[in-house]
This record gives sequence, C-alpha cells and structure tokens, in this order.
Amino acid sequence: MKLFLSTDFEGVSGIVAWEQIIEGNTEYEQGRRLLTDEVNAVISGALDEGVNEFVINDSHHYMRNLRPQELLGKAMLITGKHKPMYMMEGLDSSFDGICFVGYHGSIGAEHAVLSHTYNPGAIWEVRINGDVVGESAINALVAAHYQVPIILISGDEVTVQEAQKIAPDAEKVVVKHSLGRFAAAHIHPMVACEMLRKGAADAVRHVNGMHPPVFTKPVALEVTFLVADMAEMVLGIRGVERVGARTIVLRNENLLELYQMFVTVVTLTRALVDR
Ligand SMILES: [Zn+2]
Repeated sequence: MKLFLSTDFEGVSGIVAWEQIIEGNTEYEQGRRLLTDEVNAVISGALDEGVNEFVINDSHHYMRNLRPQELLGKAMLITGKHKPMYMMEGLDSSFDGICFVGYHGSIGAEHAVLSHTYNPGAIWEVRINGDVVGESAINALVAAHYQVPIILISGDEVTVQEAQKIAPDAEKVVVKHSLGRFAAAHIHPMVACEMLRKGAADAVRHVNGMHPPVFTKPVALEVTFLVADMAEMVLGIRGVERVGARTIVLRNENLLELYQMFVTVVTLTRALVDR
C-alpha cells in the first residue's frame, strides 16, 4: 500500500502565529518539531496497518519545513517551491489514499486559526460550483482526477468541517480548538500525536470503503480577489473569465487542468500583493 501526504503547517497543535511557521523567526524551529511529530504520527499509524510506501509533499510556504532524515517509514519527501502541482505535487493514480496533515480553515471562516485560502494577500474567497471552499476541496480536484480517496484530514474543527463534503468517510482528527485567527486551545502534542496515529491506522483499515472526491462537471472554480486589479491582471491566462469587478471563474471538465489553471492564477497574483 502506498500513501500520499500533503502537509501544511497552520493546523498543527501548538501553532497560532505566522512567526512559528515561517523561516527566519526564533519560534520556527519549535514549530517545525511540532509539525514533524504530527507527520510521523500519521506515518506510524499507517505503518502499523501495513502501508509500505510513503510520499510526503511539504506544502507550506517555502516548502522546506520537514527534514528528510527525520521522517519515519523511509518516506520520499518532496520539498521546495514552484512545484507545478503545488500542494498536490507527486500524486498520481498509483496511490491508495491521501492524508491532509496540519491543514487549516478557509480565509472567510469563523474561529479558524491562521485562516487563508492559498494566498491571504490576494484571495478573498474561492467557490467550487457555488460552494465556498478551503484548500482541502481545491486540492481534492487533483485527488478526483487521479481517483484516489482522501482518507485522513487533521487541523482545527473548521478544517475538518470544510473537508466533510469532499471526504465524508475520511478520518477527521481535530488537534486544537480555534478561538480566533491568532488564538487556540491546543490538545497536548503527545495526545494529538496519539490521536493522529490512531486516526491513520483506522483510515488505512477502512480504505476500501472510502471513495475519491466527487465533483459535478464541468467544475466552475470562482476566485474573488481583494482588489479588482488582481482580477484584471489574470485575464490574460487562457480560459479565465471575469464575472465581477474582483471575481473570475475557471471552468473545465478536466480537473487536473482546472487545478493547474488555479495554480497559475495563484502564482501570478503573488506578484500583485500590496507592499
Ligand atoms: Zn500553510
């Protein structure tokens, strides 16, 4: 059995501030340890149930948060930025399941620590077929394309609620209770890791009953930006249609192409953020 882990950082127990999860800050090394322990807890649970191959895609910020030698399960680690498939780089149809570890709530969510949707400096809201979504549902487009089920998701309550529609049967592990955008009550990291280990083991045991995410095609992915200039500047990308002053829509039958278009939009708007 082969598992794909897409790891973010904001949804790890103990994390409430950007300084803990961005390189160059004194608190970053502590954050990094918390993240590594949670990732290893998921690997351990899966190892207990016989999974023998792991690919981890470090998907946060510069994407060099995990150290290869510290990972259990002889996992292959994908690091570094400007990956064509961003948070889903490395996935293909050879995998049996996907785990989203340390994920967080969407930018508009209430009581969601470090909430954002890809780029907090540019993106105000994302909707798929009319529903407001977070990163889990956007990334699920790639899972649906390759027909791989999402079997585990961890973060705060908002994170797991937002994943309910695309992964109703997945194991959901809540490791902290968000009090606001920069405050949370944390499950003790040791307990959180025990929960993740158990969640991963349960997920692997029930993998045959889990289904890949389902989207009604063609999928319309709408992005509302902070300002109208951002919508205007992405109009040069083929297939981008403007539907409001600050809103564009991408439509595609092919979910991989749709995700790639979204990644292109995200990459371009990084250059348009106010400074
Ligand atoms: Zn992140």
